[in-house]
Amino acid sequence: MEKTLNIIGGGMAGSEAAWQAANAGVKVVIHEMRPKVETFAHRTGNLGEMVCSNSFRSDDHEQNAVGLLHWEMLQAGGLIMQTAYKHRLPAGGALAVDRDPFAESVTAALKAHPNISVSYDEITELPEDGLWIVATGPLTSGALAEAIQKETGAEALAFFDAIAPIVYKDSINMDVAWMQSRYDKGETEEERTAYLNCPMTKDQYEAFIDALLAADKTEFKEGETAGYFDGCLPIEVMAERGRETLRFGPMKPVGLTNANDPENKPYAVVQLRRDNALGTLYNIVGFQTKMKYGAQNTVFKMIPGLEEAEFARLGGIHRNTFINSPTLLDAQMRLRSRPNIRFAGQITGVEGYVESAAMGLLAGRMAVAELNGEVLPPVPNTTAMGALVTHITGGAEAKTFQPMNVNFGLFPPLEGVKGGRRGRKDRYKAYTERAKADWQHWLGQTALDAA
Ligand SMILES: Cc1cc2nc3c(=O)[nH]c(=O)nc-3n(C[C@H](O)[C@H](O)[C@H](O)COP(=O)(O)OP(=O)(O)OC[C@H]3O[C@@H](n4cnc5c(N)ncnc54)[C@H](O)[C@@H]3O)c2cc1C
Repeated sequence: MEKTLNIIGGGMAGSEAAWQAANAGVKVVIHEMRPKVETFAHRTGNLGEMVCSNSFRSDDHEQNAVGLLHWEMLQAGGLIMQTAYKHRLPAGGALAVDRDPFAESVTAALKAHPNISVSYDEITELPEDGLWIVATGPLTSGALAEAIQKETGAEALAFFDAIAPIVYKDSINMDVAWMQSRYDKGETEEERTAYLNCPMTKDQYEAFIDALLAADKTEFKEGETAGYFDGCLPIEVMAERGRETLRFGPMKPVGLTNANDPENKPYAVVQLRRDNALGTLYNIVGFQTKMKYGAQNTVFKMIPGLEEAEFARLGGIHRNTFINSPTLLDAQMRLRSRPNIRFAGQITGVEGYVESAAMGLLAGRMAVAELNGEVLPPVPNTTAMGALVTHITGGAEAKTFQPMNVNFGLFPPLEGVKGGRRGRKDRYKAYTERAKADWQHWLGQTALDAA
């Protein structure tokens, strides 16, 4: 019987998934709603359209996690990366591309492939039969989003990204910060010390509020909602409502004793919560923000203990449809409740063109294996690809799951390599060397034979 894979959405993820599967001999149908149904951000009917910036970010595959992901995808014959290099524009260490020729080239390659056909239609239901990949991205059409929500429950599908900044734990000054859950709540020592706390004096708090109020902020783009929703107010909006609002909200100092200075009660406390199972990343609780990146870098470093903080990602709020992957997807990226449906791309809670295409590459390969009656072995979490997929399918905290860029905080630490800022260059080199060897090994193990 002919093996067919249906893919909903021909963006970064859907295009890459189709390419991978088609090259392995599987017949692929891409269902793309554009140009019939438009989104507020896409401009053309091309497959693989870049909706905003024209950059795939750093191309440094020795010192940068996204550069490493470029490298891994290229090793796997990825269409998105191959095409990006073909249409590269000068941009220093970044991989910027000429966006229209890039998308035209992706579209032409997919349409010319004998195993791929494109159907220009909007899919509005989760299909019952056959093998499918949903790769409809941050701007998934309303009807399909509703169908997904019906299947997963309202809580498990988000329409906005309300991201608090995420900090590398090893850049936090623990002579100032301390670990403690409010009122020492918890059954185990681990639970009682689950939060990382940064204390503020009155003067520090007042200066912080002044800086928040004065900071440069971005406004919602056209088509995005201008309203905020409950539980997701940006901190600067809270500060605008009154100088004490934050001290009675996310910065309340109650139930905490500064382990570094037990005699002095902090006037306010900023709490950070563990963001991954490895304990290498911490998010600043309740600090979703619309401050511009430059302002965030300055203002958040005013927090005692975070003076030298390095951010795995900064905060933001924008339109973004994504599912709670850690609870909904299995390790093969299948919807647990409907295993004939995989998810890939930004809708799984990764963030960015490269990460989305990477998850498409993996989902495409997993689907091929399934059609061949096989199961792909887990991708080592020492690789950029593996670190990302491990994060979304279980490594991330499900309760506070927010979209994630690839970063070295997702990688298991290396024994015997110096931590902190000083050891960074050597550490990243060691991470990328380990990743490359492990990725090559995995690719060799899972070589896709044309079926
Ligand atoms: C406004 C905005 C700006 C962004 N800027 C950047 C940036 O500068 N850099 C960056 O790295 N990332 C950016 N992103 C994130 C970016 O969208 C993703 O990184 C990437 O495009 C996601 O890839 P994807 O394949 O998951 O989704 P997309 O590339 O969006 O592809 C999804 C496809 O599915 C189609 N589709 C949706 N619903 C249906 C349906 N029901 N039936 C059929 N087809 C459907 C859409 O038309 C689209 O072609 C931005 C996102 C938004 C919304």
